[in-house]
Amino acid sequence: MALIVQKFGGTSVANPDKIKAVAKRVLACKKKGNDMVVVLSAMAGETNRFVDLANQMQAIPDPREMDVLLSSGEQVTIALFAMAVKEMGDDAVSLLGDQVKIVTDRMHTKARIKEIDSALIHKHLKDGKIVVVAGFQGVTPDGDITTLGRGGSDTTAVALAAALKADQCDIFTDVDGVYTTDPNICAAARKIDRITYDEMLELASLGAKVLDIRSVGIAKRYKVPLHVRSTFTENEGTWVVEEDKKMESMQISGVTYNKNEARITIAKVPDQPGTASKIFKPISDAGIVVDMIIQNTRGTEMTDMTFTVPRTDYKRAMTLVEKIAADIGAESVSGATDIVKVSVVGVGMRNHSGIATTMFDTLSSEGVNIMMISTSEIKISCVIEEKYTELAVRSLHKAFNLDQAA
Ligand code: ASP
Ligand code: MG
Repeated sequence: MALIVQKFGGTSVANPDKIKAVAKRVLACKKKGNDMVVVLSAMAGETNRFVDLANQMQAIPDPREMDVLLSSGEQVTIALFAMAVKEMGDDAVSLLGDQVKIVTDRMHTKARIKEIDSALIHKHLKDGKIVVVAGFQGVTPDGDITTLGRGGSDTTAVALAAALKADQCDIFTDVDGVYTTDPNICAAARKIDRITYDEMLELASLGAKVLDIRSVGIAKRYKVPLHVRSTFTENEGTWVVEEDKKMESMQISGVTYNKNEARITIAKVPDQPGTASKIFKPISDAGIVVDMIIQNTRGTEMTDMTFTVPRTDYKRAMTLVEKIAADIGAESVSGATDIVKVSVVGVGMRNHSGIATTMFDTLSSEGVNIMMISTSEIKISCVIEEKYTELAVRSLHKAFNLDQAA
């Protein structure tokens, strides 16, 4: 017998029939002798509808009231789910975040979970009930309702699994797992069977939207085995787990890309102590996250500085950088938004040499120019022209033998 946490996303509970189907599925798992804790999202589209309503009330909706509103979608689905289970002759109890006591900080609309009281859930499980918890919400120590940020139900599920010391956490969604690359642009993309937490973190941050990135960090910290799978099939999905020997034998686990990138270059920056700090402090103070930074050492008094920012922050960053460049006496500022960051990710990189060379060779044989390169222990990223995205992704996928089943 195991304790299993199962999370179902908005498309899985989009209408009464789908909620019934999910209840049936959870019941089948319970009948095998498992203790079941279910975390639900709001019905697909509901949270967006609430945001829209709020925007009709206040130019900048009050964050506390926003959370009272946003959290209501999950209240609906958990109650309906519990009713469905009872109608099927079994027993379930729905619990809101403040009933469980999922305690968060006070950062309304993007709160972080501080602690979870598992006593009430254990009590209901002992009584033979399926416990249905509202995803995405918590409560401050003084009793205000909070939400965890969009997509936060994944985080609720994993945090609950950690607190309850569950044997596994299933994340049910509308895709059947994590893919070796984006199937929309590469027909040869394949479902990955097993992937490490670290690889998943890299893939998620690079745009694989299957899982909310914060939940993977929690899963890694508490070693919660995650199973990302489809609500609409019985097939195994992708397991996100600790590293094992077999994973090291793969050179690369996935190829990913991010189009939300823009490049800014400051030409002829004085090469002296303090310059980098003068450039990047105002940018970070404005809440803009800089990703790659490249600075050359020419051995002269001037150097060029190039870096990337999210494309969505490009205009704001440019305005700041133009002012900074004038202040520090740099020559000029230029930038581009038609770029993409293509990355190969894999823990196997630690034991295989030549991964970077294969990547550079592959891009060069397709005539793709590399503008920037950055590496980490398990990732190599290249910035290239956006129009080559598909070509680069497909040829890298092939070059690292991801087209073939492992
Ligand atoms: N309903 C919330 C949202 O749409 C939380 C979630 O579905 O994970 O962001
Ligand atoms: Mg989601």
